[in-house]
Amino acid sequence: MHEWALAESVIKTAAEHFKKEKLKKLSEAGVVFGELQAIDKEIFSFALEELVKAESKILTGCKFKVIDEPAAFKCRVCGKEFTLKSLKKTAAEAEYIHFIPEMAHTFLKCPKCSSPDFEITAGRGVYIKYLTGEK
Ligand SMILES: [Zn+2]
Repeated sequence: MHEWALAESVIKTAAEHFKKEKLKKLSEAGVVFGELQAIDKEIFSFALEELVKAESKILTGCKFKVIDEPAAFKCRVCGKEFTLKSLKKTAAEAEYIHFIPEMAHTFLKCPKCSSPDFEITAGRGVYIKYLTGEK
C-alpha cells in the first residue's frame, strides 16, 4: 500500500508546517502528482481524505488539491526537451512506463536525434507545492 504511505508523509509534512507557522487553520494543500508515479491517484486521494479524518484532527477542513504534473524529458545529447504525450508509443509501453519509470529508457528515444540518453525533468514523485492557511 504505497499510496497510503505517501499520503501519510504528505499529511505529516502539512501538519508540521501547520505547527511551525502557528496557523489557526490550514485551508488548502496543493499536492503535485507526477505522471511517472507508480501509484494509483484515486487511492492516493482517498487515503489523504481518510488520514486527515483519522490521524490529524488539526488539519480538519483542509482541502488537498491533487495537481497532475505531466512527465517531461531532456535529451543529454542534443538538449531537445520533450514530453511523454508527444511520443508515439503503444498502450502497453505507456502502461509500463507509468508503473516502472526506469523503463522509460528502454522504450523512449529522443524525437530529434534518437538518443536513449535523456533525463527525466518532471513528472516523478509526489510533493507538496503550496500550503495556504490562516494565522
Ligand atoms: Zn536528442
